[in-house]
This record gives sequence, C-alpha cells and structure tokens, in this order.
Amino acid sequence: MDAEIVAIGSELTRGAKLDTNSQWLSTALAEAGITVHWQVTVADDLPRIAQAFRTAAGRSDLVIITGGLGPTQDDLTRDGLATAFERPLEFDQSQFDQIRRLFESRGRTMAERNRLQAMFPRGATPIPNPIGTAPGIWLEVSKGDRSESVCRFAALPGVPSEMKRMYAEFVRPRLPQTDQIIRTARINIFGAGESEVEERLGELTARDRSPEVGITAHEGTITLRIVARGTSEEDCARQFDAVRTTTTEKLGDLVFGEEDVELEHIVAEHLAKLGRTLAIAETATAGLVAHRLFLTERVDDLVVRAITLSPNQFATLAEMTGSPQLAENEMKGLAADCALKLRRDARSDFGLAISPFETVRDAQVAAGLAISLADETGVEVVRHVPVGDWSIARSRAAKAALDLLRR
Ligand code: ATP
Ligand code: MG
Repeated sequence: MDAEIVAIGSELTRGAKLDTNSQWLSTALAEAGITVHWQVTVADDLPRIAQAFRTAAGRSDLVIITGGLGPTQDDLTRDGLATAFERPLEFDQSQFDQIRRLFESRGRTMAERNRLQAMFPRGATPIPNPIGTAPGIWLEVSKGDRSESVCRFAALPGVPSEMKRMYAEFVRPRLPQTDQIIRTARINIFGAGESEVEERLGELTARDRSPEVGITAHEGTITLRIVARGTSEEDCARQFDAVRTTTTEKLGDLVFGEEDVELEHIVAEHLAKLGRTLAIAETATAGLVAHRLFLTERVDDLVVRAITLSPNQFATLAEMTGSPQLAENEMKGLAADCALKLRRDARSDFGLAISPFETVRDAQVAAGLAISLADETGVEVVRHVPVGDWSIARSRAAKAALDLLRR
C-alpha cells in the first residue's frame, strides 16, 4: 500500500511552524506496517490544494490530510476535496447539531461560519472529533486509472491532539490488516566520520537491503537507522541483532549505545561503576561537557568541580596551574599541567581540562584544542582540531572529551 501525507497550511510552507503532524503520522503508519512514500506540504490556496489531492489520488492508495478544516476563510481542505473530485459540498444536519451542542456545552454561541464545518463532499463520511469542533472527512475516490481501484482520503484537523485522537479512533481501525510489521532501531557511533563508517560497514548499508540501514550524522555522532520489516516482533528483533553483530565486528568500540543513549550517559555509568569522581575545566567548549553530564542527573556523585573559562582567558588557565614558566612551555605540557593540577586541587580521581592548544602568541594559528585527562597514573593529552561552524564544532569537541572519558 502506497501512503501519502498532505499537510495543509501557509504557516507550514512559510516556515513559521514546523510540520510535526507528518512526522507523527509517518511513525504511526509505519507501526501499522504501512510505508509513507510521499509527504507533501501545501499553502492555504485552493487550486494548489486541489492539485495536490488529485496528484495524491493518482499515485497513492491512502492519503492522510492534516489541517485546513477550521471555519475560517483560509481553511480550504473541504473545498479542496470538493473541487479535486467534483463532489459538491452537502450539508449534514446531524454533524451540524453536534457542533452546536459542543458550543453550548462550552457556554459559547456558535458563529454562523461554523456551519461550514458541517459541509461534506458528496459521498464522504464524517470522522467524529471527540475533542474539537471540526469533524474530519473520510472519502474514497477512484484512482483515475482504469483499474477501478480506489484511493482513500482521511482529512483530519491540524491541531495535533485532535489529529492523533481521530487517527487512533477512526483511521487506524480502517487500515488494511497486513501481517507485516515495521520496527525501527538506532545504533550510535562516535569517533569516525560518516563516510568512514559507511566504508567500514560495507554491504550493510547498500540500497535495497533488508533490513534497511541508513546513516545520519549529528554533531559528530553517527547514527545507524535500521528499518526492519517482519512478520513478528521476534522476526524484527532477529534482524536488529544481525545488524548489531556486524556493526560491532566492523566498528568495535566506536559503537557506544542505542536509541536515545548519548556519550554522557555511558560516561556517567562508567564512572559510577568505577566509583570514581571527576573535575572539569573547559574553555572553548563553554561548559558543554559539564552541561551534558549534569543532565544525566547523576552528577552529584560524579562531578566534584566544573569550571568554565572563556577561550580568551588562557592566562587565567595558566595561572590556575600556578606555574610561572608555563607560558614558555610546550602547550601540550601546559594542558597536561592543567589537568593534573585540577585533579589535585579538586581531590578527584580524574581531571579533565579542555584548553586551547596554541600559545597566546600563536593564537592566530588554528592549532585546535588540547583535551587532557589526568588520573593517578599520569596524564593523556589529545589534540582536537575543530572543523566547521563553531556552534557544531564546540559540541563535537565536548563529545570528543566525553569519548576520552568512556575509554
Ligand atoms: P481547527 O478546526 O482547530 O481550526 P484546522 O484543521 O483548521 O483545525 P489549522 O487551523 O490548520 O487546523 O491548524 C490548527 C493548529 O494546528 C494551529 O496552531 C496550527 O499551527 C497547528 N497545525 C496545523 N498543521 C500542523 C502540522 N502539520 N504540524 C503541527 N501543527 C500543525
Ligand atoms: Mg490552517
């Protein structure tokens, strides 16, 4: 079954509002074993809405529309259906009574315009709206080819809570029963680029493979998105296991977690398991490492000190280490000293310092950051060269520091 979602609203096409309905519906349909092949967004414009509906009818078996069912002039979904399929709008007395009752129960008088919401394209079935005024519209039309097959339209309100409720109560039970289910899973990776990951995974990410494995990148974290189509939960779970095994074989400990697990969760768990504490001093990462660890809510037991210095406060950082000769030292030495001093002062098990790698004198040269981690055995300094826009580079650098902590 080819499914399509049409989101109506100029606030969406203008970019003023994010179309979360299509995202939700695509996920809900996938749960029901139905793949969405098209998502279309159309402005509040009658000819274009009608055109979108006709196109959808020609190429899809199920079309779910959201938005444009209200009583105002820019709500054009019902006119769009009437125009596209030459089904004149007809008045439905019982729907009208219901809308009026809803207004009465809320102690409001019904505006004349609300009468519009009781108009339905000929042959349509109203979809009850248990929590709002706008009923939805269920309409089956010929696909327009010679096969006599039909395309089913379900028009739902744009208000997300109403849309979800009406999908669950009316649309979902009317979807064709399939013995196929679709399940998704995510595997998270850090420490290699997108293309390197793809290369190392080889055939796993090839097109038209089952299960489907796609790669996305976000601020340095690479995510494998797996889509399994199967006949049972166990069947899909087996497919996920196979991908997990191959991924671990090919990428080793670059793999750090699944679903919503982030590096900081792994680090927090790791430190908690070891029963060890951490002190953090950050410059260019603007406190992001501490911020991420704080959000894990285990921070009380783990982080004993976290300070943030502006990238230009290099001198302050040098002062903090308390050694007068430092400015003359190799920067690696300075970064290492920072981490060691931090650990000593805070009496923590680990000291993590993120400082500029370059000297003050060479500050023009993008030498990158020094990520230094001190423990009782000594100190490790990793040079991290930020790439791309700072807003992303900062987050990547923070993740690189967390990555060092989990190993
Ligand atoms: P109503 O009968 O409540 O007026 P409607 O079907 O006319 O419903 P709209 O007027 O288009 O819906 O939108 C109602 C609200 O829902 C608005 O706040 C709108 O921004 C929001 N909304 C509409 N479409 C979407 C969408 N695709 N994703 C998220 N929110 C949406
Ligand atoms: Mg609208």
